[in-house]
Amino acid sequence: MIHSNHSMYSIFCCCCCALQTREIHTHMELEGSGSLCFQGKPRRVEKSRRELPLPPPEDGEGLGLLSVVAMYNFSAKEDTDLTLLQGEEYTILHKQDEFWWRAQDREGNKGFIPSNYVMERNRVEANSWYCENMTRTEAERLLRQQNKEGGFVVRDSSQKGIYTVSVYTKTLSADGDIRHYQIKISDGGQFFLAEKHTFNTIAEVICYHEHNAAGLVTRLRYAVGPMERCVPATAGFSSEKWEINPTELTFMKELGSGQFGVVKLGKWREEHKVAIKAIREGAMCEEDFYEEARVMMRLCHPKLVQLYGVCLQQRPLLIVAEFMENGCLLNFLRQKSGTLTDAWLISVCQDVCEGMEYLEEHQFIHRDLAARNCLVNEHNVVKVSDFGMTRYVLDNQYTSSSGAKFPVKWSPPEVLHYSKYSSKSDIWSFGVVMWEVYSEGRTPFENRSNVEVVTDITRGIRLYRPHRASPSLYAVMYRCWHEKPQGRPPFSELLQEIKKMAENPDHHNKDMTVKPYT
Ligand code: ADP
Repeated sequence: MIHSNHSMYSIFCCCCCALQTREIHTHMELEGSGSLCFQGKPRRVEKSRRELPLPPPEDGEGLGLLSVVAMYNFSAKEDTDLTLLQGEEYTILHKQDEFWWRAQDREGNKGFIPSNYVMERNRVEANSWYCENMTRTEAERLLRQQNKEGGFVVRDSSQKGIYTVSVYTKTLSADGDIRHYQIKISDGGQFFLAEKHTFNTIAEVICYHEHNAAGLVTRLRYAVGPMERCVPATAGFSSEKWEINPTELTFMKELGSGQFGVVKLGKWREEHKVAIKAIREGAMCEEDFYEEARVMMRLCHPKLVQLYGVCLQQRPLLIVAEFMENGCLLNFLRQKSGTLTDAWLISVCQDVCEGMEYLEEHQFIHRDLAARNCLVNEHNVVKVSDFGMTRYVLDNQYTSSSGAKFPVKWSPPEVLHYSKYSSKSDIWSFGVVMWEVYSEGRTPFENRSNVEVVTDITRGIRLYRPHRASPSLYAVMYRCWHEKPQGRPPFSELLQEIKKMAENPDHHNKDMTVKPYT
């Protein structure tokens, strides 16, 4: 039986669907080192008192050896690094920190590797068809780009712990079609796509459908794996470095300029494209920034523009970050206005919300979230940039809420009146970013001065519904503008709502209910 729920296809009965959820951990912590990491989130694990200690290995490394598979290629940058080859197995010897682990390959070579490039061997995430953090829009773009009959990816669905298989076929129309199927869990804990064919593991389900369509639009012929996407940034270029040697940088073209100075495209060691920000003299409180730069480098998430390092020994001070091919989101929206699909607009909101959820979890406040501070990469994935940077700006016009450059139109009442920043003030700004996205780059409160906007906001006036937003989508952004910080939802909750809308694009367009103002 084919059962269709908007564009989510399932070939099973609904009564047993997806009520069970499972926790998925991307990395398993080694025994003895104390914390468990899930997409960058540190967790504590209690060590069992009854566990017997393993005999220490000869070189003192490798307690509770963990076997992992490389999800991406990584070429060693320093003598102390180890090169990774996608699909190869490695043993983790020691976790220096959350981001850099010491590993050993089959030949016995040892060195540091980025932890976000490997996955524990027996996990579903270690399969070549699994794409972590992939949105529906990204899956569709990738499958269309590959243009291969039976091309597929497995990705996380909007429901936590549930996976979706996205498959591309040209059998239905010459332009190609994409179908999305959820992998269900039976009452007995078995996984399936087709109700008749249940298996103990997700890998077995995929393997079965690689050979049998069994109700799918086509059999799963060609896994479009993570290597076809962009390789994730590492937290810095290597395990030790946060200071970059300026002689290793070459400068190419100018990308733009901002509050701190000019930003240029460059290369690190002739090979890796980077964005280099040269800090204009007197623009930044440099000492405070040094202290914080180390912390900021340790913020590592696929939807945050990665800070790779800084050059501190000369002037101008240089900040080296991940290069984002398509520049700032605001310009992108304006330039492409009229050509942007609904699917992309919601995926932008999802991208930004994912990056912000990570910051919220790490209790890091952005303070200046706006479309101008988000960047777009070559695959049109959007990432949050410039987090926390306003704290180092030496310009009263920018830092004082009465200053001409202060982002009044992105700020909630408690920031305007008491400079009270929190993740909840970021939520307010996120609502305005959603508004910018759905108005395709218009300026909020276009014809109002900053002083008028402060009065309006204090009186409870809010931005109108932008022309591309459905009422239910507007309701989501509207919730971000609750007068009281505690009345606004957390990013984690917003993300769940946005993911659901992204998975059921027709649904939210038809839903005409707007939540009442509170
Ligand atoms: P500032 O922090 O000094 O205000 P911005 O970060 O806003 O400067 O950068 C100014 C412009 O430079 C952006 O609008 C964008 O066009 C370009 N830019 C900045 N960072 C990057 C990057 N990582 N990749 C590509 N372009 C960038």
